[in-house]
Amino acid sequence: MNNDSFPFKIGDFECIAISDGMFKYAPPIFPPPATFLFANAPKERCDQELREHNQQPEQWKEWKSPYICMIVNTGKHLVLVDTGADDIDSNTGKLLQNLQTEGITPEDIDTVILTHGHPDHIGGNTVGEGKPAFPNASYVMWKDEWDFWTSGQAELKLDEHIKEVLLKFARRNLPPIQGQLDLVDHETEIVPGIYAIAAPGHTPGHMALSISSRGEQPLCISDTVLHPIHLEQPEWYAAVDFAPEQVVTTRRKLLKRAQTEKALTFAFHLPFPGLGHVIKKGKAWQWQPIKG
Ligand SMILES: [Zn+2]
Repeated sequence: MNNDSFPFKIGDFECIAISDGMFKYAPPIFPPPATFLFANAPKERCDQELREHNQQPEQWKEWKSPYICMIVNTGKHLVLVDTGADDIDSNTGKLLQNLQTEGITPEDIDTVILTHGHPDHIGGNTVGEGKPAFPNASYVMWKDEWDFWTSGQAELKLDEHIKEVLLKFARRNLPPIQGQLDLVDHETEIVPGIYAIAAPGHTPGHMALSISSRGEQPLCISDTVLHPIHLEQPEWYAAVDFAPEQVVTTRRKLLKRAQTEKALTFAFHLPFPGLGHVIKKGKAWQWQPIKG
C-alpha cells in the first residue's frame, strides 16, 4: 500500500483516503507523547497499555501522526473532508500534490467539509496570500466552531506556544473563506448522502460525518480519537482536547454506534489509511484496521 492515497468504495460513492503528510509531536514544543495523548492516565496503567501495543514507554519520544484527508465522489458532488496542515512542517502540506496525482484539481472540488478548526484540518484552506485554495467550493463548518475560532477570544488552556500556533492558523485560514462559507448548526444532510453529526469535545464544534450510499453507512469520526489506545481507554483524553468530559461522552456515543452498526470507520490521525472497524473489547472497544 502506498501511504499517499487509498481508494475505496462506499456503495456507489468513490472515495479516497488521501495523505497530507506526517507530523512528529515531540518535546520541547509538545509534551512527551504519553502526556500529550493520555493527559489524565495513571502512569503505571498507561505504561502497561503501551507495552500491550508494542511500545516501550521509556522509548516513546515522539508521536508520529499521519494527517489523512478524504475525498468522496458522490457522482453529483466532489467533496473534500479537511484540508491538512499546509506548511506547518516539511513533511506536511502534500494534499494538493496527492490530489493532482489522483487527477483532481482544486477547481474540481465543490464542497470542503472542515471537521474542526485545528491547524492540521484547516491549514490547506488557502493558498498564496490568503486566496481560498478551492475556488469553486462551499466550505462547510459547524457554527459553534467557526464562532469559537473567529471571535478573537478563543479560550484555550494550553501552553502559550501551542496556543499561538492554533490561533495563527485560525486567523490565517478562516477569514479568507468567509465568502464561501456554509455553516451548519444542527445535524443535517450537507450534500445528498453525507450527514453532519455533532461531536463536540475535542473542540467546541467538532463535527463527525455519516456517509451513506446503497445501504452502506461508514462514519468519519475525525479527531474523536487520536490513537488506537483511546478506543480501549475512552476516558483518557489528550492535552489538546478542549472539553474532556464532552470528549468522553462523544467517544462513547460514536464508538458504540460504529460497533453496533459494524460501520467502516475513518479517523484522521490513526495509522494510514485511517480506516478500520470498532470492535468490542471488555467494557470498551478496540481498533481493527482494514487490511490494505
Ligand atoms: Zn487533528
